[in-house]
Amino acid sequence: AGGVAAVDLSELNDAQYEAVTTVDGPVLVIAGAGSGKTRTLVYRVAYLMQHGIPPEKILLLTFTRKAAQEMLWRSGRLLNDSCGRVVGGTFHGTANMLLRRYGACLGFASNFTIIDRADAEGIINLLKSSLGFGGASKQFPSKRVLISMISGAVNKSMELEDLVFEQYAHLSEHLDDILRLQRHYGEFKRDNGLMDYDDLLVNWKRMLQESEEVRRLISERFSHIMVDEYQDTNLIQADIVRLAASTHDNVMAVGDDAQSIYSFRGADFYNIMRFPKVYPDTRIIKLEENYRSTQPILALTNDIIKNAAEKYTKTLFSRTEGGVRPALFAGRDEREEALFVVRRVRELLALGTPIQEIAVLFRSGFHSYKLELELGATGIDFEKRGGLKLTESAHMKDFLSFLRVVANPRDSLSWNRILLQLDKVGPKTAQKITATVMTAGDPFQALAGYPAGRSWQQGFARLNELFADLRGRERSLPELYEVVLAYYQPIFEQLFADDYPKRQKDLDQLKGVMAGYQDLQSFIDDTALDPPEPDQHGHRRAEERLVLSTIHSAKGLEFDAVFVIGLAEGRFPHAAAMIGEQWEEERRLLYVAATRARKFLYLCYPRELMTPDRQFRRAGMSPFLTELGPGLYERISAEAGSTGEWSGSTSIPDPAAPRLPAAPARRQPPAISEFAKGCKVSHPFFGEGKVTKLSGPRTLDVLFDRHGMKTLHLDYAKLTIL
Ligand code: ATP
Ligand code: MG
Repeated sequence: AGGVAAVDLSELNDAQYEAVTTVDGPVLVIAGAGSGKTRTLVYRVAYLMQHGIPPEKILLLTFTRKAAQEMLWRSGRLLNDSCGRVVGGTFHGTANMLLRRYGACLGFASNFTIIDRADAEGIINLLKSSLGFGGASKQFPSKRVLISMISGAVNKSMELEDLVFEQYAHLSEHLDDILRLQRHYGEFKRDNGLMDYDDLLVNWKRMLQESEEVRRLISERFSHIMVDEYQDTNLIQADIVRLAASTHDNVMAVGDDAQSIYSFRGADFYNIMRFPKVYPDTRIIKLEENYRSTQPILALTNDIIKNAAEKYTKTLFSRTEGGVRPALFAGRDEREEALFVVRRVRELLALGTPIQEIAVLFRSGFHSYKLELELGATGIDFEKRGGLKLTESAHMKDFLSFLRVVANPRDSLSWNRILLQLDKVGPKTAQKITATVMTAGDPFQALAGYPAGRSWQQGFARLNELFADLRGRERSLPELYEVVLAYYQPIFEQLFADDYPKRQKDLDQLKGVMAGYQDLQSFIDDTALDPPEPDQHGHRRAEERLVLSTIHSAKGLEFDAVFVIGLAEGRFPHAAAMIGEQWEEERRLLYVAATRARKFLYLCYPRELMTPDRQFRRAGMSPFLTELGPGLYERISAEAGSTGEWSGSTSIPDPAAPRLPAAPARRQPPAISEFAKGCKVSHPFFGEGKVTKLSGPRTLDVLFDRHGMKTLHLDYAKLTIL
């Protein structure tokens, strides 16, 4: 052993101990949620180091970078040493690092730029118009669908042609154009030194496959490879691991097939089943004790997965005694559901639960809007995870484009963006300048020499000054920020005249983000690989906020209290996922959500939903909940909602929490019987109109003079009869 402290293995059960101390050969740990898979990896990193494996030879692959960092921090604590030299991160992050180092074997320059989904869609748009596809008359697929197809084919290791026939049969008449677009997209990225997320994986695999030398180098560089959440890897990732370990097969994969939630992105949980075939001497270890949740929570989560079509192989038990049964809450609508969450959060806080130990989980980002409003009104700080990222919005992309061309002057996507910001420069001119710049030996010189049109001369001169300034001398990232901002600010205020003060916050936040980096390239990489969440929901430090998160972003985490909201029919499972495999994936998603809870679990749904097109619809509870044994949860109903009290006995006694205000201070909405077809009404926003139909017990269709047809709900619409 080296100079590190001995790792105390007494806090492992027998199966965990076996996994941790098996140093050589392939190991597969297949086990349910909360059974200590991730913890086993943490101990194993420490154990390997203690037994003389150099930290830089250990590769730990996780689903997020943050997860890897946290795991390595914990390994370090076990050793009383730093694990800073262990290579830990995501597949994409590791691919990025290795491609910059070894990518020359495939002809890649080391300064390629990583593009995100929005960039990819931007390229598709450029190509669509330059190829003349998708004129308004044709039913040509949108950029979003096109990128989904192209990316889907890569991640499912399928030919695009087959994917179109299988999943987009209604678009197959466009197949030739789709294939052409795919080819041009590939060429565009190559010519511009760009890689999308998929390219990172594909090229990492190609490098391992095509260059014997690189395969040997990488396989010797990492003597031990570990992968968490193996159920959410796709075939390319499984191949990468196999190739990267080809000289030693020291691979440990841990996963839970019942938690596979990324098959929509090509993940394939059969990777777990296949593992012993790929590595014939695999030692398979199962963990069956759950250390996370109380027995009542475990009983319910076991029941969720018991009804799955696929029979998962694990039964979990917990030794934790006591605990309260999970609660099921039905609100009248999303507002009442939100009020319930707010109130319970307050009660939990009053009982001493730290705020960051409480999480509200939902299926999609927009499901928490009502709750965000209520939290805002109450002054509870929260952070939202899994929504739009800081660097995904237009103004941030604008800002970043300057830095991106400095790092990679061949990035014509960014050139185009920069030029389009100039007043009086349209797409044609921008493309012409971009083309000139791209073919020149020194793009910046070519730009400076470009004959500007009279109407945009001035702005163009400023732009050239900016680049002269940026390239004039070495600058720290905070300095780069200031220089770019000085140039961009007036343009920004003009381009986003209606809402730039709101957007300014993002630019302010970027300043702090940039200050955390030493070099430009790694900052730019992270804007695509690990972009920060926009910070606009609170003032306290991140560690002291309520967590609002999509379920996908909560994978692997645990909290004392978990609320799962929006568990209504048609919303969870999503109405479009009514069949077979998709339905099963939604069930696993609920399983992942519910298994995050240690002590308190609340399953909530609104009886009435607002659909994305602002219609109201009644809803029952999710079929996944109806299936559950009724003894497994406590029902809290909203029948007595008007007094601000909910029935049910799981209420946590909390004298300190202020009572909810009694009936909302809203005037009594009119009854539907007061309206009739043809009756004239007025609405505070839409103005005057005529009722065309009483479309539901509380809804009516109104044709407004200036705003057309709307379906309105009497409880919300504030209609006046004229
Ligand atoms: P998931 O499938 O959700 O990722 P997991 O299998 O990775 O779960 P961990 O997160 O590693 O589970 O562990 C769950 C909790 O149980 C953690 O708080 C961990 O510290 C605790 N735990 C695991 N094993 C033990 C043990 N042997 N003794 C005490 N606590 C343990
Ligand atoms: Mg885990």
